[in-house]
Amino acid sequence: MKLTILGANGPFPAPNGGCSSYLVEDGDTKILLDCGSGALSRLRSLYPDALSLDAIVLSHMHADHAGEIDLFRYMLEFGQLKAPMMVFCPEPERLRYPVFDLRQTFDGMRAAVGSLTLWFTEVRHAVKTMAVRVADADGRSLFYTADTGWFDGLVEAADGSDLLLADACLRDESNAKALKNHMTAAQVQALRRQAGCKAAILTHLFPDGTPYPPLDDCRAQYAVEGAVYEI
Ligand SMILES: [Zn+2]
Ligand SMILES: [Zn+2]
Repeated sequence: MKLTILGANGPFPAPNGGCSSYLVEDGDTKILLDCGSGALSRLRSLYPDALSLDAIVLSHMHADHAGEIDLFRYMLEFGQLKAPMMVFCPEPERLRYPVFDLRQTFDGMRAAVGSLTLWFTEVRHAVKTMAVRVADADGRSLFYTADTGWFDGLVEAADGSDLLLADACLRDESNAKALKNHMTAAQVQALRRQAGCKAAILTHLFPDGTPYPPLDDCRAQYAVEGAVYEI
């Protein structure tokens, strides 16, 4: 299984940056996790027709995660789709178009897409939001937290995953209101250790140019757009 970071910013992009979007591939199976700004152009730079995606997973409907879903719709409407595109989403009401095969996600839901299995967990955010574990047939797995504040259930949800892809938007714990909806780098490093994940990628990086604190966990690193990680 392979993860490509298409966009790592939130809640808006850095100059020439992109918002939350991640491509997961396993053999011929391709899943897009979130589709924030820049997702479609960056996906098309890898796969020009982009119709070979098997599914799009929207963790939630905030614009930095779902802002380009309508561009996918336009592309699909002009394309030669053999079947509607599977779209997983906790609040799919506004996506009712013939080109989408909508699957409403809920806490505990499991689904199979090609060679991959998806397992959704509801997390703590301002709107209904689903984290997802993506596992291949050999049991290797990625756990994507989506946007969430810390809660103890996260450790169980991420338990034993090979790669933790986590919201580390906050530089410190000074903003109590923001802490309800996002995590700090320190919290993500603690989550990696407590959940026994082999590695962590910290993402949803606030794009104001202020450096993030250095990481003390040698198995954790900040996301880099365009980077590819083997899982
Ligand atoms: Zn976000
Ligand atoms: Zn959000």
